[in-house]
Amino acid sequence: MTEVFDLTCDLISCSSETPDDGGCQQLIAERLETTGFSINHLPFGPVSNMWARIGGGEPLVVFAGHTDVVPPGPINQWKSPPFQPTVHGQYLYGRGAADMKSSLAAMVVATERFVLGHPDHAGSIGFLITSDEEGEARDGTVKVIDYLEKQGTQIDMCVVGEPSSAEKIGDVVRVGRRGSLNGLVRFIGEQGHVAYPDQTRNPIHAAITALAQLVTRDWDSGNEHFPPTTFQISNMSAGTGAENVIPGELHARFNFRFNTEQNDQTLKEIVENHLLHIDPGFEVTFDWRLSGQPFLTKQGRLLEAVQAAIRNVASLEPELSTSGGTSDGRFIAPTGAEVVELGPVNASIHKINERVLIDDLEPLARMYEHILFRLLC
Ligand SMILES: [Zn+2]
Repeated sequence: MTEVFDLTCDLISCSSETPDDGGCQQLIAERLETTGFSINHLPFGPVSNMWARIGGGEPLVVFAGHTDVVPPGPINQWKSPPFQPTVHGQYLYGRGAADMKSSLAAMVVATERFVLGHPDHAGSIGFLITSDEEGEARDGTVKVIDYLEKQGTQIDMCVVGEPSSAEKIGDVVRVGRRGSLNGLVRFIGEQGHVAYPDQTRNPIHAAITALAQLVTRDWDSGNEHFPPTTFQISNMSAGTGAENVIPGELHARFNFRFNTEQNDQTLKEIVENHLLHIDPGFEVTFDWRLSGQPFLTKQGRLLEAVQAAIRNVASLEPELSTSGGTSDGRFIAPTGAEVVELGPVNASIHKINERVLIDDLEPLARMYEHILFRLLC
């Protein structure tokens, strides 16, 4: 098989359920060190992080990714053990095969080839690797970015290896992500007997109408780069279990995926104003957690290099997308870096029998190598 295939297999063999790194970063560090990189291991709590750099000049082009994976789920439903890389037909199976050990392997191999072929390249290359992307993402990329900012290191351009492709390698790249804002609202009324409603205040009745208005509200119609903002209720609980009791409290959790037409402050104000004024008889309290601001990388040096690489290797014109969940790009983009996500086909990520097409591995490495060539030669 190929170099990318072999390194992908080695990485899958490291059992690295989030936030465990399972030894992946040591493997990557050894390869990069041999290539001439200086390595900084930056552990925070249970999380392994790594910053590696070669060269001191500008621009600084960074490959970013994560070594942790989501839990495999029921092992007996896998065709082969999830942490034992196995070929079935044209695919390599294993947890992390697509998200995102194959892109890490392709980035390492691409960089080795590029540095060997162009020892006098301009600028610098960095690797920002964490084992805390699939979990809470509190001790991972966000902390490494803090460290780099304190050092005065500015990332100019960053390729994140998240599995962006839909059907063919390179058919979709992500140039931004929606923001994500989580909320918890508590409606506090007064518990009592269902037969005597006038002696109670039923928080369910108050909440359902008010929340329904938020669900059906037209938040915006999106823009050229982003779909409309959405409001989704994910959890709702109230009730004591008894048929004859009106409960005293209702809790609802909800999430906004919002575009660049919105900001988190305005969304919070709209929700709070709406729900605080439903009925003076209810106490309503809120908890908010912003998990990422929206970002967008416009046409520029990086995006042009990525498009050229995909055209060159796969003869495709990639769709520029901002859909999908959040990624660590949300921590890197606010530093002013151009951020584009390019990685394997995402059809099987987080599923049982996660897999990657073996024939996609080398082309992905050639795309990454071509990006370096366009930006640093
Ligand atoms: Zn991922």
